[in-house]
Amino acid sequence: MPPMSTKKNHYKVAIVGSGPAGWTAALYASRAELSPVVFEGPQPGGQLTITTEVENYPGFVKGIQGPELMDIFRDQARRFGTEVVQETVVRVNFDVRPFGLVLDSGTIVQADSIIVSTGASAKLLGIPSETALMGYGVSACATCDGFFFKGKEVVVVGGGDTAMEEATFLTKFASKVTIIHRREVFRASKIMVERAEQNPKIHWLLNYTVEEILGEKNGVRGVRLRNAVTNAEMEYPAQGIFVAIGHEPNTALFRGVLDMNEVGYLKVASPSTRTSIEGIFAAGDVCDPTYRQAISAAGEGCKAAIDAERWLAHKGIH
Ligand code: NAP
Repeated sequence: MPPMSTKKNHYKVAIVGSGPAGWTAALYASRAELSPVVFEGPQPGGQLTITTEVENYPGFVKGIQGPELMDIFRDQARRFGTEVVQETVVRVNFDVRPFGLVLDSGTIVQADSIIVSTGASAKLLGIPSETALMGYGVSACATCDGFFFKGKEVVVVGGGDTAMEEATFLTKFASKVTIIHRREVFRASKIMVERAEQNPKIHWLLNYTVEEILGEKNGVRGVRLRNAVTNAEMEYPAQGIFVAIGHEPNTALFRGVLDMNEVGYLKVASPSTRTSIEGIFAAGDVCDPTYRQAISAAGEGCKAAIDAERWLAHKGIH
């Protein structure tokens, strides 16, 4: 048996994932004296840790940095007795209660109830050169990698708020930022598009898809594009390629176990957070293809903890 990486081997509430939903669930569950555990997962703090300024989380008049906000969430959950485990759940057994969770260290824990808050991750274009050059000029996170492109020309692929935000952020470092979008219409909010339009460093290539990323391991030199209207191909120079085309839910662990929609978002019995298995609840981006906001995820985390608490009480587990 591997050494235990948790303080206990049985919890009343186990929370899988540590973004706004997970930490809020932990805050409520710990204040209800359920002594929850949070398994932080591969990206502790979730997507806000790869964001810069958060201006739309209520309570912060001047905005706050994403990683700092998640540190506050974590500290607040710990204050009331949440156990935090820096591990990833790699396997689940939801066939019997108490439920079983296997961690990457090999530790096995049991839990009477589970809150799934594993969030979502950045989507990729799915072309081979993107995988081959990831980290060598290709990135899915401007906040993480923008610094490496000081004085260089970069492109941002996408037409949503993420693309606008990343492009605007990259102008701090890059000499030129070109947004490449496959349509003429943006999914991004008007204010974000306008902000990007007003930035003299930002250029636009609309109706173009990225066919290939050109370069070697010692650096990227551009992209090969196809015009969606004329079908004509062209090469466009860039030393950095930032893919900002949205996100997909982190639900591989639950495939064939919990009910999900056709693209993998967990199904919950709205307005509750109940999943298809009694005693398992879901909150945040993992079950929300619509709103996907930190504040809505936090709200769902609160709901999931209350649902879990009531369900446990109903089962006589206090
Ligand atoms: P999104 O709104 O789904 O936009 C994704 C964009 O990428 C779309 O323009 C889409 O094009 C394009 N795209 C998708 N797959 C593609 C592919 N294979 N090749 C080329 N282009 C592709 O995703 P998001 O921008 O990540 O935003 C997600 C949510 O987070 C939204 O609700 C957004 O408001 C929110 N958000 C808010 C902020 C903020 O307020 N600060 C910042 C970031 C995100 P089509 O339009 O043609 O489908």
